Amino acid sequence: MTTPKPRVAIYPGSFDPLTSGHVDIIERGSRIFDQIIVSILSNVEKTPLFSEKERIEIIRDVFKGRGNVQVETFHGLLVDYAQQKQASVIVRGLRAVSDFEYEFQMALMNRHLAPGIETVFMMPAEQYTYISSRLIKEVFMLGGEITGLVPPLVEQKLRAKQKAKKK
Ligand code: ADP
Repeated sequence: MTTPKPRVAIYPGSFDPLTSGHVDIIERGSRIFDQIIVSILSNVEKTPLFSEKERIEIIRDVFKGRGNVQVETFHGLLVDYAQQKQASVIVRGLRAVSDFEYEFQMALMNRHLAPGIETVFMMPAEQYTYISSRLIKEVFMLGGEITGLVPPLVEQKLRAKQKAKKK
């Protein structure tokens, strides 16, 4: 008997920074798939708050001890990267109807490019449905409370960035 091939999923995104919504999706994914690779998109055009290195370190730290969660960066076409990793699934999070149109378009384009790869949408717990990295940064920089909306390590890193900026 041959052993079945491990089911590898890619969870791509910017993760600038990782939020409790992302954490929720990664945890759900890690229970379904043999391996989930959190893949940070290297985007030369965007100016991120956290560098790629910082984002990798944060996600690795939050998921340390979770053997089937890996963290990497990638650039170029997502489906090429997924094939290179022998992944058969792309995981995306769906928060609200507003996410749907863009996600649907991307999923169908990826299916056109690589019919063997399925996109799987997962919903986070309700309390995380309104969280986005962009809003977290905005609220934090304006002095708003973000405890619980991001992992404690991210809150700590945000405070350190704010302190460095004030100097
Ligand atoms: P991108 O720039 O690819 O949208 P993000 O880091 O913002 O990168 O998001 C990565 C993935 O996580 C996307 O599928 C997004 O819909 C999903 N996501 C973002 N925030 C949440 C959340 N609060 N709950 C569930 N999924 C989320």
